[in-house]
Amino acid sequence: MKIDYHTHHDRCGHAQGSLRDMIESAIRLGLDQIGLSDHSPFFNREEDHPVPGMTMAKSEFALYVEEMVRLRDEYRGRIDVRLGVESDYFHGWAEEYGRIYAGYPLDYIMGSVHYLNGNGFHVFSPKLWKQEGLQIEKTYSSYIRLIQEAARCGQFDILGHMDAVKGLNILPEGNLHELWDVTARIIADADIAVEINSSGLRKPCGSWFPSIEIIERLVSLKVPLTFGSDAHAPEQLAYELQRVTDTVRELGVREWATFQRRRRIMVPLPSRML
Ligand SMILES: [Zn+2]
Ligand SMILES: [Zn+2]
Repeated sequence: MKIDYHTHHDRCGHAQGSLRDMIESAIRLGLDQIGLSDHSPFFNREEDHPVPGMTMAKSEFALYVEEMVRLRDEYRGRIDVRLGVESDYFHGWAEEYGRIYAGYPLDYIMGSVHYLNGNGFHVFSPKLWKQEGLQIEKTYSSYIRLIQEAARCGQFDILGHMDAVKGLNILPEGNLHELWDVTARIIADADIAVEINSSGLRKPCGSWFPSIEIIERLVSLKVPLTFGSDAHAPEQLAYELQRVTDTVRELGVREWATFQRRRRIMVPLPSRML
C-alpha cells in the first residue's frame, strides 16, 4: 500500500494548502492512505497561541480534529484518511500531552523532538547552532537523549525524524555510532514504530531521517517502519516514496506500519511504481 503518514497544512502557520488540498493531492498521487499529522499546539505554554508561525493555537486543536473527522467520512471509499498529530516531545510533559490527546479520536501520535530546551531554538534554526560556546557533540547527545526519552515515554505510536539534529549538516567530529546503536535498541525495546522521513533530502544534510546506517540497524532489530514526506505543501506529498520503498525492500522489509485508533496494523509495501 502507498502511504504518507507525515503531512502538514496551513493551520500550523508555515505550510501551504488546507487539509482538503492535501487529501486531494494524495488521491491524485494514488495513495491508499494519508495520515494527517499537523504540529501539536504548545500545550506546555500558558498562552493560547504563543508562536503563530510554528503551530496552531491550543483552542484550535479541537477544530482540527473535527475537520479531520468530517473529511475522513466524506472521502471514505476514495482514500483512507488517518487522524494524527505530530507531537512535540518536551522533557517532563509527555503525560500531560497524552492526557490531552486521549480526549480525541486520533489514529496515531507521532512524537518528534524539535527543541532542545523547553521552547528555545528549533533544531532547524541556524540561531541554535550559532550560539556562543555551543558544543556540537553535546548538542547531538542532548538531542539523542531526548529521542530515547520520547521512545520510552509510552505516549507515541511513531517516532518522527529521529536524527533531525543533523538537518543543517553541522556535524560532530566524533563518531556517534555507539550512541545511535544504543538508541536503536531502546526503540526496539519500546516497541514504537519509526518513520523514514524523506524531507531531510531537501535540507542541507541531503539525506533522509534517519540515515541509511540507522535504518539498517532498525531493520536488523525488527523495528516497524512507516513512511512520511513531512509535506508542507500538497506537491511535496509522497516525496521519495518510491525510492524509500525500494530501499527498505532491499533490506528485507515487506510491510509498512499504519495505525487506526492507536492500533498498529502492518500493511504490505506497494508493489507497483507510483
Ligand atoms: Zn517535525
Ligand atoms: Zn513535520
